[in-house]
Order: sequence, then C-alpha cells, then structure tokens
Amino acid sequence: MTRALLLDGRSAAAQVHERLRRRLAERVRRGLRPPVLGIVWASEDEATAAYIRAKRRAAARLGVEVRVRRLGSQAPAAEVAAAVRGLSADRNVDGVLVQSPLPRHVDFEDIVQLIDPAKDVDGFHPLNAGRLFRGRPALVPCTAAGILELLRHHGIDPAGRRAVVVGRSNLVGRPTALLLEQHHATVTVCHSRTRDLAEVTRQAEILVVAAGRPWLIGPEMVRPGAVVVDVGIHRTEAGLLGDVHPDVAGVAGALSPVPGGVGPMTVAMLLQNLVDAAERRAAEAVDATWAR
Ligand code: NAP
Repeated sequence: MTRALLLDGRSAAAQVHERLRRRLAERVRRGLRPPVLGIVWASEDEATAAYIRAKRRAAARLGVEVRVRRLGSQAPAAEVAAAVRGLSADRNVDGVLVQSPLPRHVDFEDIVQLIDPAKDVDGFHPLNAGRLFRGRPALVPCTAAGILELLRHHGIDPAGRRAVVVGRSNLVGRPTALLLEQHHATVTVCHSRTRDLAEVTRQAEILVVAAGRPWLIGPEMVRPGAVVVDVGIHRTEAGLLGDVHPDVAGVAGALSPVPGGVGPMTVAMLLQNLVDAAERRAAEAVDATWAR
C-alpha cells in the first residue's frame, strides 16, 4: 500500500520562521525595537499552559518579547476587559491576543471587540473578520492562514479543486473555507447537522477536518489521492490524536500528521501576524510624522 505524502508542518513552519528572522533583522537595522506580543490569560488548565509555553518558546527563538497578563479563572469580566484595553493602548505592544478558553462568566466575543484591530494578531476582531469576508487585506486567524501556507509549502494549489471543510467555527472552519474560496477552490462546509458526511467528504480533492472529534474521518470517507489536512488535537492516554484516523494515510495522496502538521503552522502564522502588525504600525507612525 502506498502511503500519503506527509504534509510536514515543522519544515513549513521553519521556513516561515526563517523569513520572519530576515524581516526582524531588517527592523533592527532600521533602528526599531523587536515586536512585543501581549497575551491575556484567564484560565488554569494544563493544555492552555502548554499552548502559552509553545508561543513563548517560538517567540523567544525569534527575539520577540511576550508579555503575559495572567489573571486566573476567577477574574471578573471587568478585569479581563481592563487587561485587554491596557495592552491595546500600550504603544510598546504590537500584538494582543486573548487566550481561550476564557472563564464561563466572561463572553469571548465581548472581550475580543476591545482589542485594537491593528494589533489583533489572532484575527478575531469583527473588523478583521469582516475584511476577510470581503476579501480585503486583514489579520487572518492563524490556523486558517497556517493551513493555506502548509498547502502552498507543499506545492498544492487549491484553484479549481473541490474542497470540503468539516467544521464551521469562527476559529478554524469558517475562515479556512473563506481562504480556500479566495484561492479559487469550490468549497463545501460541513457541520454537526450535515446529513451523510461521508458522501460529502468522499467528493473532496482537498479535505480539511476541524470537527474536534477524535478519528471522525476514516479511510472509507476519503477520496483516493485526496489532500487531507487534520486540524484536530486530542490529548489522550494513547498520546495526541487528530480528527483523522491514521489509516487514511493508505488512501489519501497527502496527509498532515498530528502532531507536527497544522499545530506548528498556527504558531508560525501568529508570529507572522505579529510582525505584519508591527511593521504596519511602524509605517503608519512614519506617515504620521510626515503629515505633521
Ligand atoms: P469547535 O468550535 O468545537 O467547532 C467544531 C465544528 O465541528 C463545529 O462547527 C461543529 O458543528 C463541527 N462538528 C462537530 N462534530 C461534527 C460531526 N460529527 N460531523 C461534522 N461536523 C461536526 O472546534 P474548533 O475550535 O473549530 O476546533 C476544532 C478542532 O481543531 C479541535 O480538535 C481543536 O482542538 C483543534 N484545533 C487545532 C489547532 C491547531 O493549531 N492544530 C488550532 C485550533 C483548533 P456545529 O457548528 O454544528 O456544532
């Protein structure tokens, strides 16, 4: 049985980091300080702590400073809001993100609206979401951007292909579908109410699975030769599992592994958004000086 091409997120992410390293060196030559990322963190669970560690590690490798406002899961909504407002207003901070999950008593959508859209490195502010929807330049959610970069890195062009996205969250599924469509794929979005999921997924030349259901997609649900991107992450006693069963590797033409597929891309695109945001702010500051 031939095995699918591995969509290697670690090597694709390393290439993104290398490009960022060059851009950051150029910033230093121009006398600008390294970008600063602000994170608001209001939970206690170990999985979130691990995500924050991964972001800090990747940022440190690029010489990017990370400032974490750690509030704990009991923090009142007003305190979370104040932390986001504070980082957004701080001239020395270039990117702001609110680490999910937030405590149940804090509404994520309300909080995200308080981020300065120019610093919204997760791309969740309604202004950036709207710009993405309208096909305008925007800070794009990192996992969706990472999926497109992973495909590009492996020479896979979505143009003209039939793409199926399983999942319609604002975090992953919806922005991924928009990006695939902007790259000229013909896109179908599936969700928990989709009837006969297998019948739809079997039509996909590119199948992106972001359902949050371990091993939801088996080999019988995949078109032979399809490109399959597995976004799911599930920490189990057997280790990390994706939304796609490993046997899919025997049917697919290409498959992203878990771990080492989409995960590293998400962090790389976060740093890319941060550098983009910092450069845009620096350019606007120069424009403002000229305008005086
Ligand atoms: P989410 O908000 O829970 O959304 C899941 C989506 O999948 C929903 O739209 C849901 O449909 C749909 N769905 C659930 N069960 C389904 C089924 N049986 N058949 C078809 N569709 C189904 O999750 P998310 O935040 O998008 O994350 C999805 C997965 O990606 C999770 O495992 C998460 O841990 C992982 N993730 C990974 C990364 C990374 O960097 N690798 C980043 C973010 C998330 P409804 O809308 O109808 O409920």
